This record gives sequence, C-alpha cells and structure tokens, in this order.
Amino acid sequence: MALSFDELDFGPPDYKEMLPPILERNYGKWKYHEEIEPGVYKHVSESGEEVYTVRAGQPKFIASETVLKLCDLADKYANGYLRFTSRHSVEFILDNKDNVEPLKKDLAELGFPVGGTGRTVRSIVACTGWVHCHTPATDSPGLQKALMDELYDYFVSEKLPTRLTIAVSGCLNMCGAVHCSDIAILGVHRRPPKVIDEVVSKACEIPSMIAACPTYAIKPKMIKKEDGTTLRSISIDGEKCMYCGICYGLCPGTPIADPKNDGVSIWVGGKISNTRGGPAFSRLAVPFIPNNPPRWPEVVETVKKIIDAWASDAKPDERMGEWIERIGWAEFFERTGIEFTHKHIDDYIFNIRDMNAGARVKGRELKKFS
Ligand code: SF4
Ligand code: SF4
Repeated sequence: MALSFDELDFGPPDYKEMLPPILERNYGKWKYHEEIEPGVYKHVSESGEEVYTVRAGQPKFIASETVLKLCDLADKYANGYLRFTSRHSVEFILDNKDNVEPLKKDLAELGFPVGGTGRTVRSIVACTGWVHCHTPATDSPGLQKALMDELYDYFVSEKLPTRLTIAVSGCLNMCGAVHCSDIAILGVHRRPPKVIDEVVSKACEIPSMIAACPTYAIKPKMIKKEDGTTLRSISIDGEKCMYCGICYGLCPGTPIADPKNDGVSIWVGGKISNTRGGPAFSRLAVPFIPNNPPRWPEVVETVKKIIDAWASDAKPDERMGEWIERIGWAEFFERTGIEFTHKHIDDYIFNIRDMNAGARVKGRELKKFS
C-alpha cells in the first residue's frame, strides 16, 4: 500500500506539534521579553501570561541516562517539555515563576550550569571528533571541554561586550558551524591522504572516488606487479588536494589522519545575525597549532588572548568581527600578539572564485598556473 506524503517518515515533524501549551496559546502574541539573569528569560504575552525560560549548558555527548534525568526535571517543573538547542544547550519553558529557583538548584546538582544568554559566551558547538568520525584532524568535544572549563565564568555571568559564539570542527567539512561563529576552531590536515594500493584495489570503487574528489586531485593508476598481474589503484595530486578526507569516507585505502601533521587552526569574526554589518564568515587568525590533547593548553591560551583583547576594547554590543573591522586587522594581530605570516594570504590556486577576484590575478597569475 502506498503511503501518503504525511505518512512518510522523512524530515523533521512540524515543530508546532511539540510546543508547550502556554506557547501554543500565546503564539505570535508576545508583548515583550526581558532577561532576568544569565540563563533565565521572561516573556510576557498580550494576554498577561508569563513564560520563564531556563537555559543550561551541556557537553557534546550526554548519556541516555542523563537525558532521562533531564526529562524527569521537565516532568517536575515544565509540564513534561524541554528542548535541546543547536548550540548544545538544554532549555526548559516554565509557566510558573516559583519553579525557576528549584529547577536551577536541581540542574546544578546534575552538573548543568545555567547561563549562556545576554552578554555571555554561549555553549560551545562541537562536531563528533575522534571518537565517531573518520576524517577529524583534532578532537572537537575534547577541545570544547578544555575551552569551556577556562571560559566558565563568561557563561554564568555577563562580563562580555555582547554574545560570544565559539564552535569547534574536527576538519574542514565543518559539521560544527564554525564558519558563522565569533571564534572558530578548525582541525586541519596538512598532508594529502596516504594511498595503500593493496587496499584500494581490493576494497574501493575507483570511479566513485574520482567523482567525489572536489578538486579533481584523484587519478586512476595501474601498477604492474612482478608476477605479471596488474593492480588498479589511484594517485593523489598533492598540489590539488585540499585535505577534505572525502575520499577516505569512500575508501579505507586512503587514510588521512596523521599524528604529526594534523592540528588546529583558529578563525575569528563570523556571525549569522543581520544586525549592523550583516552575516559574516570567519577569517583566519592562527594557521596551525599542533594537537596537544587532552587539554590543548596552547589553543586555550590563544583563544583566551583573543577574547581578552576584544572584551577590553569592544563597544557595548560590538561583535568580534565588528570590533576587528573597526580597529583593522593589523591592529588585531598587534593587540592579540598573534603572528601574521604568509599563510594568512590566500594563495590556493585551485580556488577559482578567489583567484578570479582581481584583474591582476585573471590576467597574469592564472595563465602562469594553467
Ligand atoms: S567536521 Fe569533520 S571531523 Fe567533524 S564530524 Fe564533520 S567530517 Fe567529522
Ligand atoms: S582528501 Fe579530498 S581533495 Fe584530497 S584527494 Fe581526497 S577527496 Fe580529493
């Protein structure tokens, strides 16, 4: 029997099916809202009803047992409703002001800090990292934990000029929303994948690998063996490869992880909101810091330096990128003590969009490389 469109199980369900009743009743009728304290918001409806939102930070991974404990709190204080935000927070929507303090106390006992609204750092977004993914150059949840331990005060109290968003992605596939965060920490590979011919010839679909490579860096290769037989494999053009790891997703014969050459880069100034200058992508601040697990002290120290420089000089409501635009990039490097190197200059000749940006490049440089 054919299923109707509504019965098919794909895509998210309509969010309106899951709204707490008080939100459903007052949908589109909000008069005003205010922040009571970091992590607690009050919304007042035209009908006079009041809603209290309590936001708590959470790590990247939580056990199902912990989810059940959070559900118990939702049953006790929020009529059975809670939601997990895309920035790794958990929110409870309360229709009774008297439940705010007991909920905060119970969350504290579970180890969940309340905060992350107003002029605070938000929960750090992280992708799955070393444990669950095949292409990471660094461990996002580990970095998230090391950073948040250092920035905890900025989460629970309002000491910053405005909101600060931080994200960590283990590689340039960017599952961790790094391109639109004030500070983005991005794992980088610095070598193309290794090719293990025996594995490629036995376990991999070579045409699919060639088609999947975004920079056409993969070519087929035939190897003549001493016994007269041939082996079908591939070669990778290191000049073209951008270390995305997509080929490794298709073929276990092209591993990209490299303990010596993998590490972390730091990008700054991204934002997604339309306020003032509009949305912006992050730009490179630090090209490479070697991995130093489990606490990545060099990365934490550099991020702290960037935040301190911004927090001590930015005007109220001035996001990281807006502050940098105002003082200038030269001044940013000066104030943070980060070294400006040739690696900050985009010279990747296979990025046609960037290399076509100037007449000089079009006329001379592209010809040189063609
Ligand atoms: S960003 Fe990279 S390392 Fe992280 S989950 Fe995505 S593909 Fe894996
Ligand atoms: S890592 Fe990415 S760019 Fe490099 S060869 Fe594999 S698919 Fe192509």
